[in-house]
Amino acid sequence: MQREAIIYTVGDFVRRVVGSLLHGGYRGKFLCSPCLIKLTKANLDKSYSLLEIGSAMADVFKAPGAITCLATSACAVCARKKHVPCLGVPLS
Ligand SMILES: [Zn+2]
Repeated sequence: MQREAIIYTVGDFVRRVVGSLLHGGYRGKFLCSPCLIKLTKANLDKSYSLLEIGSAMADVFKAPGAITCLATSACAVCARKKHVPCLGVPLS
């Protein structure tokens, strides 16, 4: 137990995982919310539910910070024809 331990919320973990995915293997690609939720769940502790991750993901989409949010884009993972809101980090 550390005295000044920082308490991380689900949102902090989700944001961190999304950032590392989009700066890592998915750099330059844009991903939709359902795909990001699945990938994030796979990278997080099993104790987090899809519902928790989903609501945290909605916050990331609302305030993506350093990540670029496109209002409509084709997802790089599920490649839906219908364009949906996607998050990504441009290559340039
Ligand atoms: Zn997708």
